[in-house]
Amino acid sequence: MLNIKNILNNLEFINISNEEFTLFEYKPKGSYKSFILDLNVSKQNPMSDIFFHMNKGNLKIVHIRKGNIIYSAGSNIEMQFQLLEAIIEEVSVEFNKKYAVDYILSYDNFSPGIFNKFEIEIEELLDNFEERDLIKVVNIPCMVCNVTKPLIVKRSFINNAESYPVPIVYVHEGHVVLCFIDKNFDVRGVELVHITG
Ligand SMILES: [Zn+2]
Repeated sequence: MLNIKNILNNLEFINISNEEFTLFEYKPKGSYKSFILDLNVSKQNPMSDIFFHMNKGNLKIVHIRKGNIIYSAGSNIEMQFQLLEAIIEEVSVEFNKKYAVDYILSYDNFSPGIFNKFEIEIEELLDNFEERDLIKVVNIPCMVCNVTKPLIVKRSFINNAESYPVPIVYVHEGHVVLCFIDKNFDVRGVELVHITG
């Protein structure tokens, strides 16, 4: 069993930016680390709603553009990418629920401090993450290592799929496993796939 509450302690930051600057940044209490975010991939890419994953040293970073806003989250490598995606998906929903973002950004005298109180929503989200039922843990076998790994899958990814089973790729210690998950979150097949690029 994965202890999601403990895993969430690996979160290092959540960042909300537009093209020019950071609108809001969250760091867990007691974290003094600062991260210089390289959002160039998202900034250069006008495609909305595509998740980008990066490994940077001991950090895992996920970012997504939604219109003019780029949402990012980073953690140490203990966290799984689908959990980071679930976090920023929910962060974007809450941020837009709380603020009329486009309207606020159109003010001439706009200052990012206006979003500081969003920290309350972030803490509430992280404290009650499991109750929101955003993820599901699926046990996926790796035939190379002969182990079964508990992997986090976003519910939205399965529930919003256009057809089933849904393919998802799992990068495991230098090899890659392709799994097919049906709409009941059951594993329907597992294949070892080759990597290039
Ligand atoms: Zn393996």
